[in-house]
Amino acid sequence: MCGIIGIYGNPNAAGMAALGMFAEQHRGQESCGMAVSDGKVIRLRKKMGLVKEVFTDDKLREMPGSLSIGHVRYPTKGSATEFNSQPHLVETLSGPCLALASNGDIVNYQEIRNYLEEKQVYFNSDNDGELLVKFIAYKVDKEGYDIQKAIKELMKRFRGAFSTVLITRDEMYMFRDPYSIRPMVWGKASNGAIVVASESCALDTLFVTERKEVPSAGIICVSKDGIKVFENGIKNYRVNENQCHCIFEHIYFSRPDSHHFGENVFEVREKIGACLAEMDEGLDVDYVVPVPDSSNFMGIGYARRKNIPLSLGLIRNHYVGRTFIKPEQTIRDESVRQKFNVLPNFFQGKKIVLIDDSIVRGTTIRKIVELIKLAGASEVHLRIGSPQVKFSCYYGIDTPTREELVANQISLEEIRIKSGADTLKHLPIEALRNCVTAPSDYCYACFNGDYPISIEKI
Ligand code: SF4
Repeated sequence: MCGIIGIYGNPNAAGMAALGMFAEQHRGQESCGMAVSDGKVIRLRKKMGLVKEVFTDDKLREMPGSLSIGHVRYPTKGSATEFNSQPHLVETLSGPCLALASNGDIVNYQEIRNYLEEKQVYFNSDNDGELLVKFIAYKVDKEGYDIQKAIKELMKRFRGAFSTVLITRDEMYMFRDPYSIRPMVWGKASNGAIVVASESCALDTLFVTERKEVPSAGIICVSKDGIKVFENGIKNYRVNENQCHCIFEHIYFSRPDSHHFGENVFEVREKIGACLAEMDEGLDVDYVVPVPDSSNFMGIGYARRKNIPLSLGLIRNHYVGRTFIKPEQTIRDESVRQKFNVLPNFFQGKKIVLIDDSIVRGTTIRKIVELIKLAGASEVHLRIGSPQVKFSCYYGIDTPTREELVANQISLEEIRIKSGADTLKHLPIEALRNCVTAPSDYCYACFNGDYPISIEKI
């Protein structure tokens, strides 16, 4: 999972990109980068660290120009290094300088890389963003394609998720895989700039009032000639006409104030909470306590449906990063305890429904239940707002291997015992499907192994 941003047509494009990246920091905290064009030169800066650390006012002043792209990274393809950070910049021999930032994962990465390496294209990283931009550069340089034609060719050959923004010195291109797996929205800011982002919360920060989805397999070109939208030009490529949005964007990844795939994220989470409550007829508890922050709205939905009080009994330290997106297990373990604390004297003798969005390795939830029981709760009923995660993701999320997923190691009852909860229930997949308006347009592969894009040869 990563976050992208693109700005066209504002003299402070670097400052606007930094604001957008800051709004998307939850999508990646390992590294960040930005490329800015002043019409003649594209300047690139990327470093390990958070947006506010890497893009200080001084550094932003060194990046003049009215066209920019930015990226916050959480590693999937390629380790957490500066080389693997985005954007990637390529000077073509035939003229255009290209900078690209992408969110997703290329399933047939090795196949395309082999194809390019056989043609003496060299790589500085293992990152799929570099693969995307070098493919386009090769087609432009060696085969005389214009950029739009090169992107169409890319869409025919690349399998996977890619919500992508590309700039030359004076144009911006936005394009997206035919399945629209990762979110990507765009619009016009009140200052006239055209803005594209992974999530609409970034557009809100930049005062974009009318937002639209980048169409599936669509290409949007923004230049001095205006905005040209090319809808799906490669229909034949698609296995079926359905889109395959990542359902986990609604469950966990996205900010609740974002809107994409036709849904308000917070409303989907409230519906999930209500569905969990419907499964608990007859369960008598004192409070619903969500694991903050991603489960807060599920907690609201549950409490409202059962007409019992919600309490924010667990407090999260926001200065510790997201547990799930810390790349090493040792760091992850320490973060859990540093990240959560309980309200003093709140849990003593109370019966609690504890809501969490998912169980992946089982590390986090075990420590949270332990914390609440130590604080005196008499019963903890654990409710999970998603089905059991049993399969890895190949479309932009660094889920563990199948063997590392706790749901593949032990039975549900053993997970309950290990977690320390008195009861444990997951949301069934059919109930999850009922929480979105177009359930056939979603990917549920990490729950049922039904991968919408072939994962062969990986
Ligand atoms: S496999 Fe899971 S995490 Fe990956 S795109 Fe599908 S629903 Fe999302």
